[in-house]
Amino acid sequence: MFKKVLIANRGEIALRIIRAARELGIKTVVAHSEADAQSLPVLLADEAICVGPPPSGQSYLNIPNILSAAIVSGADAIHPGYGFLAENAQFAEMCADHGITFIGPTPENMRALGDKATARRVAREAGVPIVPGTDALQSVEEALEAAAEIGYPVILKASAGGGGRGMRVVHTAEDLERAVQQAQEEARAAFGNPEVYLEKYIEEPKHVEVQVLGDGQDVIHLWERDCSIQRRHQKLLEEAPSILPEAVRKGLVESAVRLAKHVGYTSAGTLEFLVDREGNYYFIEMNTRIQVEHPVTEMVTGVDLVKEQFLIAAGEKLRFKQEEIPLVGHSIEVRVNAEDPDHNFRPAIGTVETLLWPGGPGVRVDSHLFAGYKIPPHYDSLLGKIIVWAETREAAITRMQRALAETVIDGPGLKTTIPFHQKVLDNAFFRRGAVYTNFVARRMSE
Ligand code: ADP
Repeated sequence: MFKKVLIANRGEIALRIIRAARELGIKTVVAHSEADAQSLPVLLADEAICVGPPPSGQSYLNIPNILSAAIVSGADAIHPGYGFLAENAQFAEMCADHGITFIGPTPENMRALGDKATARRVAREAGVPIVPGTDALQSVEEALEAAAEIGYPVILKASAGGGGRGMRVVHTAEDLERAVQQAQEEARAAFGNPEVYLEKYIEEPKHVEVQVLGDGQDVIHLWERDCSIQRRHQKLLEEAPSILPEAVRKGLVESAVRLAKHVGYTSAGTLEFLVDREGNYYFIEMNTRIQVEHPVTEMVTGVDLVKEQFLIAAGEKLRFKQEEIPLVGHSIEVRVNAEDPDHNFRPAIGTVETLLWPGGPGVRVDSHLFAGYKIPPHYDSLLGKIIVWAETREAAITRMQRALAETVIDGPGLKTTIPFHQKVLDNAFFRRGAVYTNFVARRMSE
């Protein structure tokens, strides 16, 4: 096992990694920015090294500084968390070049699956259904032809896109030409790569994703999560399991394992699918990292995914057989963001004056907040995640309502998404499992 891991991340996921490492007897070093010097991961890690000023381009994405920090501190592994460098194949290669283990998939895995247009090709090879659409577009004519064939509406997507950005729905041929040009411009500006492709726009799908673990030879799945409660393609509430007919669930998890095996996948990964009203499912992309919503899977399977990442990176074979992965009860996670749900979810950061997280049976909180914490304005707005487990979905909803009623996060200027989540949990459509990616737009705007 590793002696010391450098954590190249911040916030709740840095803390999550410290917790897994400590239980495995691995020392921790947090590489942090100046803005995060007074943060809980820095306080709780065995060591901390400042790698640059607040903007993430100069700190959390600063590869030379992060590698130097790992070398100086004598770390033999780097855990990238999610975001930042987590899906950067070149960074993973540079770690290896310096004799440091990158805790995640191989650079080859990332290259085969990291870019969405490439991942579609790989899925096709593996015999996994994808949304009808194109490869990377070479011309507007090609887009017009493909859209005429598959039918409108269509969605243009950046090959390098992520985080719900770089997508554009197009309803008519008249709009397509301009939309392609705009999408390419946006993709170039946002991701440094203008490549876009086109897919059929699926109306009212569920977003269902399958968690997998691979060791380079074998792959198992840990069932699926429903992440349909989204705003502007960004997930807000997730649950496991999804509400799907057994046959559809079976098809999904088998397809996910087939695709991950096809590339010899190593580490934890997530295969995202859209499921339409008829129960047809289509692969949309793979995330080659631990995800924000991983705890709901941990709650229903009892597997610690971050620990498994460490063990696999240290060269261990998978410790579980597929039939040893249970699916017990129901889990829900809400993302507590520093945003004002009453004002279009605009950022609402400040200093945390009063803080009370929920507790009691079946409640887990993953958060880096503490009373007195000044939220830095430079990073994403995630303050933490409240996760519950109960025997049934209904009981999990009740438990989450109870947990949110206990929670107090207060301070000047500070607002959170908790009131929004309370409305979702009260909503009759949500309660009967009628969750689709347009839920927020269709059922939550009065
Ligand atoms: P990102 O990597 O930016 O998160 P995804 O490809 O995972 O982008 O898509 C994010 C969300 O966008 C999906 O969960 C879904 O709500 C919506 N979406 C993506 N592709 C389609 C599609 N073909 N039809 C309908 N909605 C889509």
